[in-house]
Amino acid sequence: MNYTSNPGKLALSKLHNPELLVRECYVGGEWVSGDGLKDVIDPGTLLSVFETAQCGVDIVDICIAHAEQSRSDWQSRLPVERGLILRKWAKLIRKNADDLAVIISVEQGKPLFESKGEVEYGASFLDWFAAEGERALGQSLPSHKPNMFTTNFAQPIGISLAITPWNFPLAMITRKAGAALAAGCPMIVKPAAETPLSASALAVLAAEAGIPGGVFQVIHGDASTLCAALLKHPEIRALSFTGSTRVGQILLEQAAGTVKRCSMELGGNAPFIVFEDANLEQAVQACMEAKFATSGQDCLAANRVYVHDNLHDEFVALLAGKIENLQVGYGLNVSTQIGPMTVAGTVIKCAEMVRDAVQEGAVIVTGETSKNDGGYFVTPLLLTGVTDDMKISREEIFAPIVSVLRFNDVCDVIQRANDTEMGLAAYVYTASMSTALWASEALEYGMVAVNAYSFTGPPLPFGGWKQSGLGREGSTLGINEYLENKNVSFGGICPHIPD
Ligand code: NAP
Repeated sequence: MNYTSNPGKLALSKLHNPELLVRECYVGGEWVSGDGLKDVIDPGTLLSVFETAQCGVDIVDICIAHAEQSRSDWQSRLPVERGLILRKWAKLIRKNADDLAVIISVEQGKPLFESKGEVEYGASFLDWFAAEGERALGQSLPSHKPNMFTTNFAQPIGISLAITPWNFPLAMITRKAGAALAAGCPMIVKPAAETPLSASALAVLAAEAGIPGGVFQVIHGDASTLCAALLKHPEIRALSFTGSTRVGQILLEQAAGTVKRCSMELGGNAPFIVFEDANLEQAVQACMEAKFATSGQDCLAANRVYVHDNLHDEFVALLAGKIENLQVGYGLNVSTQIGPMTVAGTVIKCAEMVRDAVQEGAVIVTGETSKNDGGYFVTPLLLTGVTDDMKISREEIFAPIVSVLRFNDVCDVIQRANDTEMGLAAYVYTASMSTALWASEALEYGMVAVNAYSFTGPPLPFGGWKQSGLGREGSTLGINEYLENKNVSFGGICPHIPD
């Protein structure tokens, strides 16, 4: 292989810490070769940059045995000790940030500056949950009976399973593992097939941080076979999934058989509403950020941009100018703002969505639907004249395509924004506090950003309403997904009071 024609492979060969690059699965503290190897494809060149071991279903029992073996030791450690180990893991992630960012950009495609941002975002959840573990409080309850003392214990739920997507290959793992491990629960991770290398690199650093081998394990292989087998196991008590609503529904059905605790971070269809009194410049810039982060492949991405009639034309003109200046390119190039799509299907889906929208009356203001410079590239595109019934409004675009819809009635736009089965994030731009408060209350979404974008982080409860998910990650709530409540009542407390 000529390395110069394969920049991803070249970049991986130059990591400062080559030990981060691992083929095998990480099971019980050992690196395990599977039954075969699968190429890791750089979406910016379509060339293989590395390989990953593919485990068969027999790995499932082995993983669970290791997790079970280490469970009681891990959960009996003091929260402060678990926290110290999580903080060490975070420190090692930061120490290896440049290498981890390269790995993310090569396997996922996102621009390097965004990959660096993801590494810090990912590490921050470990620090957050290191502290939250010490605050996993039970409760003392006012008794409803005489001479009785009653209380709730918060205890680790047991072995957990994380199934993660390719758009944030590092942070979606740490956001789950931080909470699980802080609560005292071992976690088995099945990362997305497109982005196995970030997950394996995390396992290398987990081991270095002192996390016992059975407490954090990473396996690669056929998702449906491995996950179905894992979800059949009664020993796995919690499932945390981030990915599409379609796969989330399948997993919920499989988890029902053994009634597991399920935390689901699923698809979005975010409205971005620009009210008549909004600061136009700020709203346009925010729309750029809310749409084009992770090259549009973000569950929080602005999917339907509703602009008031009186601002519409000026908004579109400003937005088009900014979109035309976006630099599309290979993720490792420093000038790149929009990288390739991670999966081939997105390129085809985009072309179909835009074609259908145009056939139904939408207009392309800027951009084109086909651009293939040897990778899964999609040129940023701006559509106006979009209506709510078009497929591009009904489905998550998950690509750098902006879809602008008009409105002139404030109540009507909220109703239109809510007219979807998704309910993850919504954006509101307005200068009026009362419009901001009223709209925030009326929007049926788990997260509303008012005059803000890029708002997520450890203190915020991350999660959606309706078919966007169940449960919350991050914040003070995230650890609860890995805790069981136990009510304990003590009778005959006072010998002087008759029962
Ligand atoms: P996906 O296709 O649902 O895949 C997610 C994970 O599920 C991958 O690890 C995948 O493994 C696995 N999987 C696929 N089919 C499976 C099956 N039948 N049984 C068990 N596991 C299975 O989602 P994606 O395309 O990677 O990610 C994009 C989606 O994630 C978007 O809808 C986005 O909105 C959503 N997302 C949501 C959030 C949030 O917090 N709400 C955050 C990020 C992304 P393989 O890769 O091996 O197939």
